[in-house]
Amino acid sequence: LAIGQENAFPWIERDLGIEFDEWDVPTVDKVTFESTRQGIYFGGDSAFGPENIIWAVEHGHQAAISIHKHCSSEPLDKRLPHGMNLLSTKMSIHEWSFSNDYDPSNRRRMRHVELKQRFDELNIEVELGFSAEQFVTEVERCLNCDIQTEFTAKLCIECDACIDVCPVRCLTITQNGDKSDLVKRLSAPVTNQDAPFYVSDALPQTSRVMVKDENLCVHCALCAERCPTGAWDMRKSELLIPYAIDEEVAACNRKTG
Ligand code: SF4
Ligand code: SF4
Repeated sequence: LAIGQENAFPWIERDLGIEFDEWDVPTVDKVTFESTRQGIYFGGDSAFGPENIIWAVEHGHQAAISIHKHCSSEPLDKRLPHGMNLLSTKMSIHEWSFSNDYDPSNRRRMRHVELKQRFDELNIEVELGFSAEQFVTEVERCLNCDIQTEFTAKLCIECDACIDVCPVRCLTITQNGDKSDLVKRLSAPVTNQDAPFYVSDALPQTSRVMVKDENLCVHCALCAERCPTGAWDMRKSELLIPYAIDEEVAACNRKTG
């Protein structure tokens, strides 16, 4: 059990070569997680102050790479780069490898134990969780943010079918222009001027562009289902973050050529 209340390192002797910063936490390299003493690593709250458990785990992975390199006498800062894959989720004409039936229902209200029972039994769990029906609805409310719409401009024949079917009217084919000018010509009014927009390359037929208001898209895949040429696709983004084992495999591959 880890309870992050306060960083305190009175147990580390100050003459070991481990430097401390103005918050009295060890000075740690942001890439290698090594302290100022070679071979000693820190992660989690003790490295850069309070963060969440997800970052603590990531710090552990990065420190593991450093420890592996230290033991292999390799430079700690020569690491595999992060990468990203975009893989199509298309299974057939109307079938995707994710549930695209977006449900715009409001968030379900979780069931709780009645107040009287809570006072009668102070040691009981108050939240009862979702019912099976609520659970299914909650799952369908997911916006599938890891699934990206991917557009191939050269395939578009400007039939407007995707624009017609989009339930939130986030697509527009129009002449290109400055963002301040483009926003006046979009299918749906722009409520957030800072929202990100996708603007395609010039389309082959008229040199207009496909514009998508990323703020509105609910990743329903209807544009990709309707498109007769496959210009729209739904692709799953996959972050590729190397672990120590990947560094070892890469090192073996380098040795064997
Ligand atoms: S995925 Fe759905 S909401 Fe997004 S652009 Fe396509 S049709 Fe519109
Ligand atoms: S449905 Fe396909 S071909 Fe038609 S306008 Fe949309 S992207 Fe272009």
